[in-house]
Amino acid sequence: MIQNAKIHFNEQGTPVADEFDDVYFSNDDGLQESNYVFFKQNRIDIRLQNHDQAHFTIAETGFGTGLNFLNAWQQFDTLEPQRNVNRLHFISFEKFPVARDDLVKALAAWPTVSNYAKKLCASYPIALQGCHRLVFDDGAVVLDLWFGDVAQSIPQMSVSQRGIVDAWFLDGFAPSKNPQMWQPSLFDAMVKLSRRDATVATFTAAGFVRRGLQEAGFMMAKSKGYGKKREMLIGYLPEPSDKQQEKPYFSHVPRTLEKVAIIGGGIASASLVLALAQRGKHAHLFCEDEQLAMGASHNRQGAVYPHLQADYTIQSEMYAHSFLFAKRLYQSLLDEGFAYSHQWCGVLLQAISHTVKERQANIIEKGTWPLPLLRAVNEVEASELAQIETPYSGLYIEQAGWVSPSELTQALYKKSHQLTNTSIQFNTKITSLENTSQGWMLSNGTTCIGPFSDVFICAGEHSDGFEQTASLPLHGVRGQVSHIQASSESQKLATVLCHKGYFTPAHDNLHCMGATFDKNTKSREVTNDDNTTNRQQLNSFYRKQSWNQSLGEIVDAKAAVRCCFSDHLPMVGEMICEKDVDTAFANLRKGKQFGFGELTRPHQGLHVFTGLGARGLCSAPLLAEHFVSCLLDEPRPLSERLNEALHPARFAIRGLLRKER
Ligand code: FAD
Ligand code: SAM
Repeated sequence: MIQNAKIHFNEQGTPVADEFDDVYFSNDDGLQESNYVFFKQNRIDIRLQNHDQAHFTIAETGFGTGLNFLNAWQQFDTLEPQRNVNRLHFISFEKFPVARDDLVKALAAWPTVSNYAKKLCASYPIALQGCHRLVFDDGAVVLDLWFGDVAQSIPQMSVSQRGIVDAWFLDGFAPSKNPQMWQPSLFDAMVKLSRRDATVATFTAAGFVRRGLQEAGFMMAKSKGYGKKREMLIGYLPEPSDKQQEKPYFSHVPRTLEKVAIIGGGIASASLVLALAQRGKHAHLFCEDEQLAMGASHNRQGAVYPHLQADYTIQSEMYAHSFLFAKRLYQSLLDEGFAYSHQWCGVLLQAISHTVKERQANIIEKGTWPLPLLRAVNEVEASELAQIETPYSGLYIEQAGWVSPSELTQALYKKSHQLTNTSIQFNTKITSLENTSQGWMLSNGTTCIGPFSDVFICAGEHSDGFEQTASLPLHGVRGQVSHIQASSESQKLATVLCHKGYFTPAHDNLHCMGATFDKNTKSREVTNDDNTTNRQQLNSFYRKQSWNQSLGEIVDAKAAVRCCFSDHLPMVGEMICEKDVDTAFANLRKGKQFGFGELTRPHQGLHVFTGLGARGLCSAPLLAEHFVSCLLDEPRPLSERLNEALHPARFAIRGLLRKER
């Protein structure tokens, strides 16, 4: 588990790291030093005027108190009239994250960046390993905070063959105080992440650092140091690494996304539209219903919480980081005045059986998840949190809660529309797609619409409804949620209860109670049988509780179909052609990771974003963000193992590796 930095403040009020016995910055001129050593010596002010991409990426070793980041952000804003870059991307690695209270205290020393510091402190994440993507100023500034030792974090990253980093801030405490970080392996890893002509600047002039960076591939020189310091080092990378970064079968080919069509109308398409809008890309949305969120995203109340296992598994990593990202996004919508019904009232995972109790005990014992994310509560604490009696102990996710999925979907669209001119065409069921020399043409049976450079299919369980996507191995799992009248006693419920299903706090005098799981039908018809099942399930867990006995009638219900894949993971990427994959990567059958052919990509520009299963409210925003980052060749928020686990080629590749194809 990641440990927060243990720090104290010296007599000048400067934060000092106990672990390294070194100051984070000099209190006299730390901000100016940061600007001189890292920003100016990387010539970022000049390079922002004539950059070859819409985004510029800085990577830093040692986030510390974030002063370098805040300075870069401020400079980026100040340089707005001169620059041709519209997004600043800042990646920073931090082994011992400064705790939020310490961060607030440390940054109070810098009034000239206080506006930026306030935003950083408000979004600053908990000490969980992996990448925390923080989005500021409607996407103009993005911070990827990788918590963990830089030596372990870089190998986890999903990086395109073209590299991602334009400028390195090689910080970290002095090499003499932190020799473990200043290793040749770090310099090699920096080269792996760098784009051609990437630059590096570091405060140290140590000979072994200069030689190490040179051996890795950088051309290095000495420069005048800041203030009283005589020298520092600067350099650039004339040739990017030619080492294979990506597995060719799990790569993403960049797109310009100049004319985008989206087929959908639920939380997946809403999240995608926003990720595009934050990059100035507008989308044309086609929805078969008369309004948004009439499919799976139409419940009255959906729970937003991560599915966590005892270990840092692929699923847990995806849901934990998705949850933290979604929560920041959903909260920012509220802060900006985009209203939707919700309650951040926590979610209580009830230990309803001996097996669940043991599983929960194992989760706590393993200690994978930091306390602010998840904590164990006994029966008494559980009842206190719930404000009604519950006979079970459990795990409590304090930051979680419920939202109205349809209102949230609409809020996401409104926000996107504020950023770019997103258009929605309702009552338009797209029935076929054609890849023409002009681009993709969409048909609703009577009219041809297009051409589009890119088409995204976010059609839930209907995502396999096109000739090109018919081979998607998805299946639908029908679910029904019943709405039951609250009583004065049940109105007191103050958190979401999760047993086998879920039971929400009352909203407009109704609780949501559910949900059923049925693999054998894709029907959205509400049935009395399912209402009975939901009522019986609640009774079976809370038979003796008077609040349960006092509930009124079921007055309404909603049914929809969850779109799922057999490995319980969503799908994010360009639609593959299985034959194409089989031919290009035939050598995998022989266990060879070389000698591959070229993909012909008959469906290039046709993308799928679906399979969000039973937890789309949690996962959709981060997955959309990752997807768009991949397609625009930006730094990616998901680790490579997640990128591979979500890639549309995964089933075909597994088949080849197992010699089943
Ligand atoms: P959908 O919301 O189904 O959207 C698909 C859209 O595609 C629809 O708008 C549809 O009109 C459109 N469309 C389809 N085909 C076409 C076409 N050919 N042309 C044009 N438009 C088309 N998740 C949680 O996180 N928390 C919960 O508590 C929760 N509870 C759930 C309870 C139930 C009963 C169900 C069914 C699901 C629940 N989920 C929950 C899962 C969550 O609702 C889904 O993961 C999520 O809504 C999927 O969003 P989506 O945008 O992928 O699909
Ligand atoms: N850049 C920071 C700023 O702007 O405030 C100051 C950085 S401080 C001098 C050095 C940071 O490097 C500390 O926060 C420390 O925890 C971090 N660090 C040290 N070794 C590390 C490693 N191996 N991986 C990641 N971070 C490390």
